[in-house]
Amino acid sequence: MSKRIKNYEGEGLKSADIKEGRVPTEKWRPRVKFAWSEGIAIGRFLEELKKGRIIASTCSKCGRIMVPPRTYCENCFKPTDGWKYVKDTGTINTYSISHLAADASRLKEPILVAIIDIDGASEGMGIIHKLGEADPKEVKFGMKVKAVWKPKEERIGAITDIKYFKPMKEEKR
Ligand SMILES: [Zn+2]
Repeated sequence: MSKRIKNYEGEGLKSADIKEGRVPTEKWRPRVKFAWSEGIAIGRFLEELKKGRIIASTCSKCGRIMVPPRTYCENCFKPTDGWKYVKDTGTINTYSISHLAADASRLKEPILVAIIDIDGASEGMGIIHKLGEADPKEVKFGMKVKAVWKPKEERIGAITDIKYFKPMKEEKR
């Protein structure tokens, strides 16, 4: 016959015991420092952004022009073997109106986040970025947009070297 324990010795802790200091506690904040190696393809991409250009990698087998660049073509299962500058204009593939900031706090003015198919790259190749100088009511799928770059001296080789993409004015014929 097994003996069941009905009363455990000691006392269970409640979170109030910790909050109100009834039990010894220790607080510490880990100092987690980490670095990320951007790799060959993204490294080149970021370097070119600093110069105000968008670069793609290419695959000579299937002819795809890929942006952001990657070192390997998943269609052909082989390394990419070329580079090509693409334009800093594109088309809104899809977008979202966000009322929340990155820390989940509510924004007074919503931000527009879009996937932009870059002109000169293969179909469906695009980057995620913010839209600016854009009225949320007027933004549409398929709208043409253009990068707004930071001034040269402020660029650091980051995706934020492009401030945002803004709608292009319709060309008059
Ligand atoms: Zn390929």
